[in-house]
Amino acid sequence: MKKKVKMKKAKTKKVKMKTKTEEKRKKREKREVKVKEVEVKEEVKEAEEIKKEEKEKEEIKKEKGTCLICQKETVGSPVKEDFVIRGIRKIKTSLKIARGTNLIICDEHLEEARKKRERFEKSLLTYGGIGAVIGIILVIAGLLGGRDLISILSSMLIAILLIVVLVIFSLAYYFPAVEERKK
Ligand SMILES: [Zn+2]
Repeated sequence: MKKKVKMKKAKTKKVKMKTKTEEKRKKREKREVKVKEVEVKEEVKEAEEIKKEEKEKEEIKKEKGTCLICQKETVGSPVKEDFVIRGIRKIKTSLKIARGTNLIICDEHLEEARKKRERFEKSLLTYGGIGAVIGIILVIAGLLGGRDLISILSSMLIAILLIVVLVIFSLAYYFPAVEERKK
């Protein structure tokens, strides 16, 4: 009788140990799966970052042409076409001296081009601002003077002319914008 009980106890012990090791194994497997998941996630992240970098590289626009600053023929960032560039091109075409070159800024002069553009934008703002202030003063003075319509209109015209002249002054600093990214 006693022996049987002992045997039963031993059996349950064995079963318990078995389930314990089983649980341990399961836990370990779970851990391994988690580690693998993290690894996969990191890999996906890396791949996404590489893709992003490649996309950014693609988005930087580069074209063949002549550098506006050093006149070298190379590959660089294209110059944005604005009314000044178009105007110059039109004049050159009508004078038949247009060479049809594509204007770019080479990598070496990109920083310089940015600075020049900034200076031009600042001068445009300054001269435009001065012109606007003087123009407004002229118009107000004309209105306060209580003169007839013609003299008010002529003072407005003078104001507009003044602004135009000042903007032309600022064009002395003209430098086109650089197109650095595709839209
Ligand atoms: Zn250059």
